[in-house]
Amino acid sequence: MPYKVPDVLDRIERFPRVEIISRPTPVRKLDRLSARLGGPEIFIKRDDLTGLAFGGNKSRKLEFIISDMLVKKADVVITWGSLQSNWCMQTAAAARSFGLKPILMLFKPAETAATADGNVLLDVLLDADLRILESDRGKVVKSAQAMEVLDEAGREVRAQGQRPYLVPVGGSLVRGDMDKPLGAISYVAAFAELLEQTRGLGLEPDYVIHATGSGGTQAGLVVGAQALSAGCRIIGISVSDPKGPFSDDVLEIGRAADEALGLGLGIRAEDVVVFDEYLGEGYGVVDRTVAETIRLVFQTEGIVLDPVYTAKAMVGLLDLIKTGFFKPTDKILFLHTGGTPALFPNRERLFNFLVKKP
Ligand SMILES: *Cc1c(COP(=O)(O)O)cnc(C)c1O
Repeated sequence: MPYKVPDVLDRIERFPRVEIISRPTPVRKLDRLSARLGGPEIFIKRDDLTGLAFGGNKSRKLEFIISDMLVKKADVVITWGSLQSNWCMQTAAAARSFGLKPILMLFKPAETAATADGNVLLDVLLDADLRILESDRGKVVKSAQAMEVLDEAGREVRAQGQRPYLVPVGGSLVRGDMDKPLGAISYVAAFAELLEQTRGLGLEPDYVIHATGSGGTQAGLVVGAQALSAGCRIIGISVSDPKGPFSDDVLEIGRAADEALGLGLGIRAEDVVVFDEYLGEGYGVVDRTVAETIRLVFQTEGIVLDPVYTAKAMVGLLDLIKTGFFKPTDKILFLHTGGTPALFPNRERLFNFLVKKP
């Protein structure tokens, strides 16, 4: 363990950041859920309570990314995601609160209606410039394809005499105008935060488990764990991609973060642990297990999970416990990454799975 928390935080402080979130986000033990499962001790870190527009992991990333936009004197932020993207909504909310104009490229399957619900409603309330484009059901659009669409919008903004800032989905991969893995760097800091909190409770987590989508959160946690903890493993539960190509993304971002911070850790492929067994029918598709897991956690702990990310991660955690992946003495920390506005556009499927019809 080469680094101490303050040393890593010093390196992170070299990157400018605006204040968006309330920190630290709470950590607490899920006694009732552990008892219900007869399983190991489970803790939760509530990054759904960051405080910006319903919260979530994207608000941490945006502290660094908005700051980069201000340094680069941008007027307009252009990004992309799925129709109900938490990233897009959080970016628009943060952008507005720093006087920047948001343009959001939202990809949706042809059969999905673009109703003003969940994050789309919030995007509309933020008066974001929404451009709706087409994608396949259960699939995430390829980054290269989306960046081309962003480039075109960037040219349009420049022609109007304004300065655009192009940022990829999730603020994860180093693309567009984001030339450092700023999203991941925010999660190196988040790992330091959670380590100090759990050490305050007299323990060190053996595993941190969370939903992984564009890879920045996992990459940052992996770098944080390598730098600061003797034995903590990070487990990403994929909600969108098969683990092969996706692990390469996490590795790329993790290495870029290691380099940007000058830590010299040498992140290896085996440090990136991704499970893609819990994708169900694909990105954003709610199934019965997801619905029942949201109900279980809400009923035992009063905590709301979202159907696209955190419930799928919890399905993974519950299955890994059931199949004996963890030792009974392991301390597991579940990172709640937010996303709760997605509950409402999925109301009908959730209702049909959970409520018996007469
Ligand atoms: C974006 C998102 C994730 C995944 O984070 P990445 O850094 O993109 O991998 C997980 N949970 C929620 C709720 C999200 O919105």
